[in-house]
Amino acid sequence: MKKIGFIGLGIMGSPMAANLVKAGFDVTVWNRTPAKCVPLISLGARQGESPRQVAASCEITFAMLADPDAAHAACFGADGVLEGIGDGRGYIDMSTVDDKTSCAIATAITKAGGRFLEAPVSGTKKPAEDGTLIILTAGEQSLYDEAAAALDKMGKLRLYLGAVGQGARMKLVVNMIMGGMMISFCEGMALGQKGGLDGSQILAVLDAGALANPMFSGKGPMLLAGDFPTSFPLKHMQKDLRLAVALGDELGQPLHSSAAANETFKQACAAGDADRDFAAVYKVIQ
Ligand code: NAP
Repeated sequence: MKKIGFIGLGIMGSPMAANLVKAGFDVTVWNRTPAKCVPLISLGARQGESPRQVAASCEITFAMLADPDAAHAACFGADGVLEGIGDGRGYIDMSTVDDKTSCAIATAITKAGGRFLEAPVSGTKKPAEDGTLIILTAGEQSLYDEAAAALDKMGKLRLYLGAVGQGARMKLVVNMIMGGMMISFCEGMALGQKGGLDGSQILAVLDAGALANPMFSGKGPMLLAGDFPTSFPLKHMQKDLRLAVALGDELGQPLHSSAAANETFKQACAAGDADRDFAAVYKVIQ
């Protein structure tokens, strides 16, 4: 069984790494805040000393980090992955970042003698726990093939999308749509209830028709309860919208409603809801 590294044990990384340990892989973990390694060590993982040491000692190292700055720091920072990679070892970054960040990391890893695959995921905390994520890969195909067994312990579906950058773009497109849908949903729920409609009945009507979807049925009760336990942090949705709008600038694609959605998520971050679930954007809309 391959030696696997895992860097970044947040909401997503912890259960993803746990699924690899439970599947019998020899897993070495590292997290900036070391305390988050403890449950994984109890499960049977090894404690890594640094991203450099993890990348140097494992055949394939996965990362699941907050944003482009975090992905950059783990790769290019002191004691980073770049200092440990080489000899054809693999680095698979599953963080949601922009295509430029991913391409810069890919270029550096390849130059250092490693292989790179980007693999952002669609799906949230529960699918991460259940191993049912949708994994959007692009980059070195030999690494994609070699990592298949591990990827299949984390996801129910994996796609190979071609050159580095295409996985990042696919992920940003999907989350841009999701962010916009959430804003429309919250505005409809707020408007309906201010107009005297019963919130549960609005949800029931949505669920019975063409607009039925798991996001509305999953997040709807959170809106009604005013309680937003975090599966997908609001700050990460704002980051994804920011990166999608930047991609729109670059490609000359107007994104009127997504740019407006980004502003609403920025407002929610400023209101103190950055670490709540992204459904908490409802509070500033109300
Ligand atoms: P999270 O809980 O906020 O975890 C972020 C991770 O990044 C933590 O391990 C954190 O370390 C690490 N980190 C942040 N800044 C760092 C830095 N400068 N150097 C090194 N490590 C750093 O986020 P998450 O929800 O697991 O999401 C991870 C990624 O997956 C994000 O790109 C997100 O957009 C994406 N994603 C999330 C979901 C979801 O539903 N949650 C779904 C799909 C995709 P510390 O523990 O030390 O803070």
